[in-house]
Amino acid sequence: MDAHTMTKPAVLILLGPPGAGKGTQARMLEEKFGLVQLSTGDLLRAAVAAGTEAGQAAKAVMEAGELVSDEIVINILRDRMAQPDCAKGVILDGFPRTTVQAEALDALLAENGQSINAAISLQVDDAAMVTRISGRFTCGACGEGYHDTFKPTKVAGICDKCGGTDMKRRPDDTAETVASRLVAYHEQTAPLIAYYKARGVLNSIDAMGDIDAIAADLGALVKQATA
Ligand code: AMP
Repeated sequence: MDAHTMTKPAVLILLGPPGAGKGTQARMLEEKFGLVQLSTGDLLRAAVAAGTEAGQAAKAVMEAGELVSDEIVINILRDRMAQPDCAKGVILDGFPRTTVQAEALDALLAENGQSINAAISLQVDDAAMVTRISGRFTCGACGEGYHDTFKPTKVAGICDKCGGTDMKRRPDDTAETVASRLVAYHEQTAPLIAYYKARGVLNSIDAMGDIDAIAADLGALVKQATA
């Protein structure tokens, strides 16, 4: 393929408060469309686990349910976007979370001749978020997400997907931390809905229902936005 026939990699953004299902839906889109899920939360957790300088700076902030500095997050995102697999197209899950990050993303994409295909706002009720978050866990081996009530494993303690038994709960998935994370969302991230609306790329979907029904709505939107 020469440069003229090559299509630009798709860039999709999932917006929504903690617990809205961004991660679950991003993973489903990744499988369905061959895109790469890019979660700054996952990248930061990996940095914390590896004990890097950025990870050490981020750890306490994440445990308090506050936002990590724009500088750290933008650097992590920029490095990840430079990896060759991102040429398949990306679904940004949990980034951007501030206007400064949104502007940095616009600049980064412009440098690469790319632009945002769609920013999709997952609409949910705050009241339901605490229940959703406090019951969730993931398989430590394959990363599949579960929930005590809404999506339990078929056999207790065993991953449906890979048979793994090392189930993990995030240290910031507690009722107290969720309250701080919701405040951070409303104060710092929700303004991005207007930001993307003004740029003509905003789409919204009702994300309160069944996971598969939401995935179907989202899939249709993504198909349209990447056509
Ligand atoms: P998440 O997995 O997206 O819920 O993110 C977990 C935590 O990581 C958040 O509560 C923040 O402390 C931090 N974090 C993740 N993404 C960002 C971001 N784009 N900007 C600032 N902090 C972030």
